[in-house]
Amino acid sequence: MTAADIRLATAGHGTAAQRASVRRMTLAIPNKGRLVEPTLALLHDAGLVFEERDRSLVSRVENVALDILFVRTNDVIEFVRDGVADLGITGGDLLAEADTDLPIVRSLGYGHCRLAAAVPRDAPQREITQLAGLRIATAHPGATRRWFEGRGIPVTVIPLSGAVEVAPRLGLADAIVDLVSSGVTLGTNGLRPIGDLLASEAVMVGNPARLVAEADAIDRLDTMLGAVLAGRRRKYVMMNAPADRLADLAALLPGLESPSVIPLAHAGMIAIHAVVGSDDVWDLLPRLKAAGASGVLVLPIEKLIT
Ligand code: AMP
Repeated sequence: MTAADIRLATAGHGTAAQRASVRRMTLAIPNKGRLVEPTLALLHDAGLVFEERDRSLVSRVENVALDILFVRTNDVIEFVRDGVADLGITGGDLLAEADTDLPIVRSLGYGHCRLAAAVPRDAPQREITQLAGLRIATAHPGATRRWFEGRGIPVTVIPLSGAVEVAPRLGLADAIVDLVSSGVTLGTNGLRPIGDLLASEAVMVGNPARLVAEADAIDRLDTMLGAVLAGRRRKYVMMNAPADRLADLAALLPGLESPSVIPLAHAGMIAIHAVVGSDDVWDLLPRLKAAGASGVLVLPIEKLIT
């Protein structure tokens, strides 16, 4: 079987016998927790058609030679490492914890959090290096130990599987290292963050051998995911304007390339189309209006390949 045979084949192409010979890839994704919804949204937005049902163990993608394996977030890395899955989606923090060199195919732009150190609000420490000689409770003992060892700071790591933030109050530890996104949970538990060990987001990892054997298929899937993520970061803006305002408006619209300019039936009027950063829209619209634009439309971009 050649790499071409095992590419992500669109169902409906080729004969049933040809389709049957296509090796189906397996993508392991979390079945519970906060990465589930954004992961499913990304896969559906990329155009993969599959039923979630009750998130039973495996879901068959109807239009691509891919099976989705729903497993615990913590188990994704092991499934990919062992080759049970070709690819997996999990948190970057878990990759750091596992201390594995599984290649990251793509960072996915959601599930952002930090592995942060925190102490009781009235404790004297102001930075992580001041934790030398103290006891640190964490559900991330591997990453925590490596971080402190790497900097030559002696600490006692106390591994816990949950309720880490109450460990100082119970007298179990002097400080904690835990995942935070807003930091609100730390505050409500009387803790004060004093620094981050690492920043994390969801990532897609690949089994090294399969990345080679299935290079075409993985590249196709990765391209589609990348196109969705790139589209989310941008908006398509359309507007009408007097032709003599083009220079002013174009200066406001650096976009991907130069904007498209289309003559309108009304003499002296043009339509301008451009791709802009999602984060820029708020500032941009009033400036476009002030520069003569009217009928401004802002549209989402489903996919973008640059
Ligand atoms: P969960 O299964 O909900 O416990 O979380 C799984 C993953 O979500 C973690 O391994 C992180 O990669 C990610 N995550 C994002 N924000 C947070 C947060 N505030 N606390 C814990 N995990 C987070």
